[in-house]
Amino acid sequence: MNYEAAVIPVDYHLHTRLCGHASGEISEYLEQAVRVGIQEVGFSDHLPLYFLPPGRTIPGYAMDEKDLPLYVEMIKNCAEASPVSVRLGIEADFVPGHEKKLASLLCSCPFDYVIGSVHFIDGWSFDNPGEVDEYSRREINQVYERYFSLLQQAALSGLFDIMGHPDLIKKFNILPSLDLNPLYEQTAMAFQRAGVCAEVNTAGLRYPAEEIYPGPLLLNIFHRHGIPVTLGSDAHQPEQVGEGFKNALKLIRDAGYREIAVFGERRREFIKLPNC
Ligand SMILES: [Zn+2]
Ligand SMILES: [Zn+2]
Repeated sequence: MNYEAAVIPVDYHLHTRLCGHASGEISEYLEQAVRVGIQEVGFSDHLPLYFLPPGRTIPGYAMDEKDLPLYVEMIKNCAEASPVSVRLGIEADFVPGHEKKLASLLCSCPFDYVIGSVHFIDGWSFDNPGEVDEYSRREINQVYERYFSLLQQAALSGLFDIMGHPDLIKKFNILPSLDLNPLYEQTAMAFQRAGVCAEVNTAGLRYPAEEIYPGPLLLNIFHRHGIPVTLGSDAHQPEQVGEGFKNALKLIRDAGYREIAVFGERRREFIKLPNC
């Protein structure tokens, strides 16, 4: 495939209705990808909440464990007839202490890549609009420190290929007073040591942060440490596929990147960015 001819090389972060909070048919996500000039997409729906006690779930948060084989089958089937190349990914929460269960779930499916995301800080679903009040009860500097510490632990767990939306904690634009540079440096060093890739995720543009995850400062630090990047929209509706990618590609190029990471069977390759 001639990736260099594509306007947009990849969108590796698409959800499906199986997670309970996304809408649209898989075929509609693929049609939108064609419309906006994406060469390869990857579905990476929310992995079942493996870290909860057996039988427990949070309704509408992630796919049921029984639906995981169905998800794999759906994506494999749509890939056969798709006008764009389709990869099978998954977005997995990182919750320390449950790594074994996560590893066995990830091994059970033929994923092309696994996105590791921190959505929970010690049981608090901090990116959930329904739990935003909790910020007013917390010390925000400590919240940021804990978030980046979990993100580093996630990277170093060795379970993930891509670290999802690596500064998601800024989603509601509730910002700390501390200097973020040292936390960003530590995070980049952990990513480097772990050999993971960082996701440049445009969903932040849709929320009060109004900024891509990661922001320019963190992305520049990633580049300086040689951390590869890939691209995702975090689409939960077909029309969000590729949304904000013009900005994202500019941000990536401005940080100094000339190539982007792509994945197949959990192996990483690089392709040149368009116009580089
Ligand atoms: Zn979601
Ligand atoms: Zn996420």
